[in-house]
Amino acid sequence: MINRPLDAEQATDQTVFGGRPSAPLGRLMWPQCRWCQGAMQFLGQLRIDADGDRDDDALLLLFMCRNRPGMCHQGEAESGGNAVLRVGLADLQLVDPPPTGKTLRATRYAAAVTPIEQALDYPSAAMGWATATGTDTRQVLGQIGGTAHWEELDETPTCPACGEAMRFTALLEQGPDRKTEMNFGGGWAYVFRCGCAAKTARLLLQC
Ligand SMILES: [Zn+2]
Ligand SMILES: [Zn+2]
Repeated sequence: MINRPLDAEQATDQTVFGGRPSAPLGRLMWPQCRWCQGAMQFLGQLRIDADGDRDDDALLLLFMCRNRPGMCHQGEAESGGNAVLRVGLADLQLVDPPPTGKTLRATRYAAAVTPIEQALDYPSAAMGWATATGTDTRQVLGQIGGTAHWEELDETPTCPACGEAMRFTALLEQGPDRKTEMNFGGGWAYVFRCGCAAKTARLLLQC
């Protein structure tokens, strides 16, 4: 997944980071942090495509508390310090945040997907692309689909609804610009989803 600049802000069914979330009219309840009760920050949205009978086209809206950095268990899948909300693609509108809290990031960029046929792992794929194209590695936004790469322990979450291992959806870098980057403690964010009826999705950090 490679950085791609964007023009004016408008609702979209594609993968975009920063700005306001796109959601079906009236369907998004902005998530609140379980620990500080403040409104979470919108990080970005990931487009997922229908895959057999277990999935539909959807957007995963990624949120994390930024009101008290490091104090709201932001990196844990089940902590309530972050949230992944799954919405459909019909009637998308930009959603305004609640009036208080660190709710938005002052940047907006999209992602272009570059298929990598063969790579030892995510870091070598990212480095290989940057070297081959003469581009800064910060332009690599992460990995979408494929197999999860873990630097440490495999922390694939279990779906709280059905008890199955959740499916790897994306690995995310902090972003292309130090001033506006997401705060993953210098590590990566991992996004998972489940194809069961509950359509669960989770985010966790490894840093
Ligand atoms: Zn919080
Ligand atoms: Zn499930």
